[in-house]
Amino acid sequence: MYTASDPMTKVEKDTEEYRDHINTVNAQGKRAWIFAKKPKGKFYNWRTLVSYVLLFLMFAGPYVRIHGQPILLLNVLERKFILFGFVFWPQDFYIVVLGLLAMILTIVLFTSVFGRIWCGWTCPQTIFLEMLFRKIEYAIEGDFQEQKQLAIAPWNAGKIFKKTSKVVIFYTLSFLIANTFLSYIIGSEELWKIIREPVSQHIGGFVAINLFTVIFFLVFARFREQACHFACPYGRFQSALVDNDTISVTYDFKRGEKRGTLGQRKKSGPIALSAAGAQLATSASASQYGDCIDCGACVVVCPEGIDIRNGIQLECIQCTACIDACNKMMQAVGKPPGLIRYTSHNTVAAGSPARRKIPIKFRTVGYLTLWLVLVSAFAYLVLAREKIETVLLRQPGMLSQKLPDGFVTNLYSLKIFNKTFETQNAQVRLADIPGEIRLIDPVGEIGPQKVAEARFFIALKSELVAGASRPIELEVWSNGKLIRKKKTVFIAAGGT
Ligand code: SF4
Ligand code: SF4
Repeated sequence: MYTASDPMTKVEKDTEEYRDHINTVNAQGKRAWIFAKKPKGKFYNWRTLVSYVLLFLMFAGPYVRIHGQPILLLNVLERKFILFGFVFWPQDFYIVVLGLLAMILTIVLFTSVFGRIWCGWTCPQTIFLEMLFRKIEYAIEGDFQEQKQLAIAPWNAGKIFKKTSKVVIFYTLSFLIANTFLSYIIGSEELWKIIREPVSQHIGGFVAINLFTVIFFLVFARFREQACHFACPYGRFQSALVDNDTISVTYDFKRGEKRGTLGQRKKSGPIALSAAGAQLATSASASQYGDCIDCGACVVVCPEGIDIRNGIQLECIQCTACIDACNKMMQAVGKPPGLIRYTSHNTVAAGSPARRKIPIKFRTVGYLTLWLVLVSAFAYLVLAREKIETVLLRQPGMLSQKLPDGFVTNLYSLKIFNKTFETQNAQVRLADIPGEIRLIDPVGEIGPQKVAEARFFIALKSELVAGASRPIELEVWSNGKLIRKKKTVFIAAGGT
């Protein structure tokens, strides 16, 4: 349910009342729609630039190939993962888990030092919502005041046209995102097959694309900031990671309080205007006020519907829109920028004008140490893992056979996982004993990133197998090089 109330009226006046409710729910318990003012300023420009680079990388990602492999593939269904050209097979799952742990720890480390920098600058939810969907909304419906008017206006041709255009564009964009998302899971080639071939051959893929499209559409058209407030696990646990030394988007209450509007200041004393016509009064009565002119600009611009002057809040995604808005107001009234800035609560409380101070604390060092251990272990395991993996099994439950030619045979199977980007020409040889390898399936050529399975008999003269069994050793050769020695057991005639 839309509400046309002006967010300016929601500005809390030095009370703790904001803790008792969330700004996206009104007094009747219904959704209070946030009409955020279009941000403008230095930080917004930087964020836009970063977002466009990330959006380009994200949309191009599935089509960029290294050695013919996608740069990123997260096929959880087949447990095949590719990260920047490194292919991880199901056998490498522990390395993937370690990589994920390292990634989580990276976010934890950054959060403890720099707050939710991830949310404001790189999170796909923020980038899609703020840099794509909301920009389209501004282009179609105008800035926040016009959007509010449109929301409560009767349904006429103009409103129907605007709302329909928005839904069509949002849905198309959601469809594109869903396709890209799916190509990260199944690969772009599979996606092309789903697109080109009859739907009947790809019912699962067709359902997945449409399901993701609807989910993305609902998230970006309706659910919006609530994803950060209620659904995102990172948003939930980040409060456990930050403390008063964490660098976040922070209101300088020492400098800003006591806040007073220009009107209040005028009443309490004359305001001396600068040559630019904007200098605030500094007369004795007017100097009871801090630099905050209580204009509400930082509130109306907030896409999360909060007032940063209440301090660090769970809802804040560190998008910096309030910094830009406040800097503009400070400039307008001839005050230095940075009333809202990247700094820590403790820096502000100490009355320091420092813009930032990197907090090096015991837990930061602890996170950093653990992070280094995990990243080093991950890098070592990736680089040191076997490029060609082999699994040799004696066929379980098979009896050995005594043949008329005097040989005793055992059946084996050999799986070869070619994790390289070259074709492997594999052979199996007996290492330490005279005998024969009688192939059922040839080992032969194994393509890049492919697996091959061969079954074969090992035939030994019966006099070489004195007891019930004996250990033997096999050599696996590929492209003329010995790549692996495998030990196994040979069962004598009559054994199992
Ligand atoms: S308080 Fe400021 S930084 Fe936080 S979400 Fe709102 S506008 Fe963005
Ligand atoms: S934008 Fe700056 S001056 Fe205006 S209310 Fe917010 S903190 Fe105060």
